[in-house]
Amino acid sequence: MQLLGHLALGYFSGSAAGWYTREKVSLPLIWVSALLPDMDMLTNGFLVHRGPTHSILLAAALFLPIWLVTRRGLPYFAALASHTLVGDFLTPPLMLFWPVTDAWFGAPGFLQMTLAGEELLEMLLFALMVAVMLIVYVRSRRLVPQRRATRP
Ligand SMILES: [Zn+2]
Repeated sequence: MQLLGHLALGYFSGSAAGWYTREKVSLPLIWVSALLPDMDMLTNGFLVHRGPTHSILLAAALFLPIWLVTRRGLPYFAALASHTLVGDFLTPPLMLFWPVTDAWFGAPGFLQMTLAGEELLEMLLFALMVAVMLIVYVRSRRLVPQRRATRP
């Protein structure tokens, strides 16, 4: 998956985790978390793309001490996990369980997406995210008149 799909998946998973934990989330930090695994593309080949930075084991090992101390941050871990466990899992391969194994993993063949299907899903997810964000914004600003309870 590409940028827009990862942003949308991060938004939905991070927001859901924030709602579940009742933790106020930072949207920019959610989006940074959702894109963090792809930092390997900025290393000029030093780190193989979709290699160790896409390991859910490494992410959990780094996140767990933070969570044990602060009991916070689950929305950001959820956004990061959505990158590898959903977005890139559907368009394999990736080193999901590094450093336990450096084998490459991905969805079974029938779940793997074609490039056209991936782009369509990405656009749909991004459009859905924008729609949800607009609805949340309008409702939070009370731009839509609220129905008042009428007295009998
Ligand atoms: Zn990636």
